[in-house]
Amino acid sequence: MPRIAEDTIQRVAEANDIIEVIGSYFPLKRAGTGWRALCPFHREKSPSFHVNPQRQSYHCFGCGAGGSVFRFVMDYEHLDFVSAVRRLAQRAGIPVIEEAGSPDDDRRHEVRKRLLALHAEASAWFHHNLLKTPDAQPARDYLKSRGITVEVAKSWQLGFAPDSWDALLNFLREKKFSAEEIAQSGLSASKDDDERGKSYARFRNRVMFPIRNDYGEVIAFSGRVLDPESKTAKYVNSPETPLFTKGRVLYGLDKSKRALINAKVAIVCEGQLDLISAYESGVQNVIAPQGTAFTAEQARVLQRFVETVVLCFDSDRAGQEAVTRSLPALLENGLTVKVARLPQGEDPDSLIRGKGPAAFAEVVASAKNFFDHALEILGDKGNLEDPAGKSSAARRLGPYVALIKDRVLREATAKKICARLGIAEAAFAPLLKPAANQSPSDRPEEAPQTKPLILAEGIRQLCRLALLHPETKIWLAEQTSPQPSELGEGGDLLKKILQSALSLHETSARAAFLSGLPPREEITVSLLDLDRAQENALQIAQNLWFGLAATALRNERDSAAAQLRQAALSSEERNRLQSLVTEASKRILDLQSRLNEV
Ligand SMILES: [Zn+2]
Repeated sequence: MPRIAEDTIQRVAEANDIIEVIGSYFPLKRAGTGWRALCPFHREKSPSFHVNPQRQSYHCFGCGAGGSVFRFVMDYEHLDFVSAVRRLAQRAGIPVIEEAGSPDDDRRHEVRKRLLALHAEASAWFHHNLLKTPDAQPARDYLKSRGITVEVAKSWQLGFAPDSWDALLNFLREKKFSAEEIAQSGLSASKDDDERGKSYARFRNRVMFPIRNDYGEVIAFSGRVLDPESKTAKYVNSPETPLFTKGRVLYGLDKSKRALINAKVAIVCEGQLDLISAYESGVQNVIAPQGTAFTAEQARVLQRFVETVVLCFDSDRAGQEAVTRSLPALLENGLTVKVARLPQGEDPDSLIRGKGPAAFAEVVASAKNFFDHALEILGDKGNLEDPAGKSSAARRLGPYVALIKDRVLREATAKKICARLGIAEAAFAPLLKPAANQSPSDRPEEAPQTKPLILAEGIRQLCRLALLHPETKIWLAEQTSPQPSELGEGGDLLKKILQSALSLHETSARAAFLSGLPPREEITVSLLDLDRAQENALQIAQNLWFGLAATALRNERDSAAAQLRQAALSSEERNRLQSLVTEASKRILDLQSRLNEV
């Protein structure tokens, strides 16, 4: 990984208050001297995720997640340490100074960086085409017919991919991107995936929608066909790339995050144009899943921002199927699901353009809970008149009711359905089982619990004292025989503490240091009691260190001596062990004389 200079890391840590950073992702509630929220790393109903402003750290009592502001950004954004530092540096306007790092991580980082740059160039090129080129006239007409003004097109950086097999590829090559990089971005494709086959532009004669991550960086594209009679797919999306995982992104989230948090409700539109229309008309708490149904991962992202989801899908059959396919992921993540009933033949976009934003807002406001909605639809169709219809309705709804996380709510919903259908609750109860096709396979993994290292008390104390007291750290760092790594489990961690150039007794520097550690070491340190200083720290550390050092050297000597007593050793091996014993004995004497000097 390219290393970032330690003092840069420290500056970044100082400039990013953990409450502000975490609070920019989802709302935190005050709890005593700290702050609290539902944990974003595991599923829960009552908040066990705590953020401590004094220590500049967070900890979840439910799943054990915890650490500094860097660790949070790494885990929340799925970034490596360096990218997390960059992100926070960018947030605080601090320039990042890098040192060289391991070749493998460098390469991965470089690939991401190049692909982001490539997407930014491509997006600007598509956008320029849309605004300026004669070819794009039909695209401009189309957007105009959908009420998209030039300002709106600029704000969303909409674009146009010309009807050419190679114009984009030539442009990107001119910008010094290699054929391999272009292929990796998914913007080119080739026949039969033959590497030698000629590659061509994936998106042709389409209106282009850049897909952005939460931070507004373009990571993929969605292209909509212009000719409604065209035989090709209406929408084409980028394939999965090192930047883009389909089931993870929510279109519009980079813009609507704030509005979602304020409203606690997310209005889910099917298509990008619906979303843009709603957003621009003033209804800003909107998002669109990529594809038609929600994945578990998207639902988990969403439940960090809102409690309720209003599905605003077309009233046609496909739209209603998307509703039922989205349900399991949403209900399982504890979201209340409402369904807006759009007038027949309308989508949010056409409704807003035809009848105005108020009409759309009214449809959203009158959205009904999914179960009420489903009963209403079945009732409208006359499907609840006879026992067979009632039975079929009960069988259809039972598995969804079973997915409601809140028990009280689940039972209340079941009761209501029974009342509406006129069936006994005892008859409905056996149907409350998740359907087979809603198996746990597509559920997210629970956050893995990282176990701390088990440290002997001596090492644990040395780590703690070195972190809290600079003079103790300096003294320990000067002791080179034995090396910290010879002191047993935790020795490597101690070594890292002693070698760090940061002022670890300062909270922000410690946070920076912690984030560079592997998770097990990080959690080990976060469990050390670092809130209070220790009197006579240096003296205590010296006593501990001499004790540990003497034990380590004696163990080394005794183990070599024990091996020497074995029969059948080659003379070579015997000599080696003998010199180990002599060496260890010398080092013990040396240690004793140093002890007398202290
Ligand atoms: Zn948790």
